[in-house]
Amino acid sequence: MIMVSSCLAGMKVRYNGTACLDVTIQKLLDSHQAVAVCPELLGGFSTPREPAEIIGGDGAAVLEGTAKVVDRLGTDVTEMYIKGAYETLEKARQYAATTVVLKENSPSCGSSMIYNGDFAGQRVPGEGVTAALLRLNGIEVVSEEQLSSRLVL
Ligand code: SF4
Repeated sequence: MIMVSSCLAGMKVRYNGTACLDVTIQKLLDSHQAVAVCPELLGGFSTPREPAEIIGGDGAAVLEGTAKVVDRLGTDVTEMYIKGAYETLEKARQYAATTVVLKENSPSCGSSMIYNGDFAGQRVPGEGVTAALLRLNGIEVVSEEQLSSRLVL
């Protein structure tokens, strides 16, 4: 089974109430090869919500306790991001997910790029909190761009 970010599956769960449907992901869902999860909703957030970015490092640093996740109003939301990551890991184990496809750039789901914590639209190399936790537990994480380039459906 493949697990995917809910927003890539067309669900309007992003911070601003939108989705970012990916047609490759949609095909996987339609053929029952994938299930969708949203780490931020699993962490206790609702939609819409304030956007958040990682300050002081990336998702791995958040898990180590040397970086934090802060929303645009300055509220420290680190614990909810960590909770969402562990809930997603549990779902991945329940579904025996072999690959997890996560939305690039998100402080939860980014797998190679995230925003730099300035809320100015600047991206830097790094992974989100959920992507980092899944990888630490031996689960393959790819972005939607990587999936599209390697799957022939
Ligand atoms: S946490 Fe992940 S699945 Fe949920 S809206 Fe953000 S990018 Fe999409």
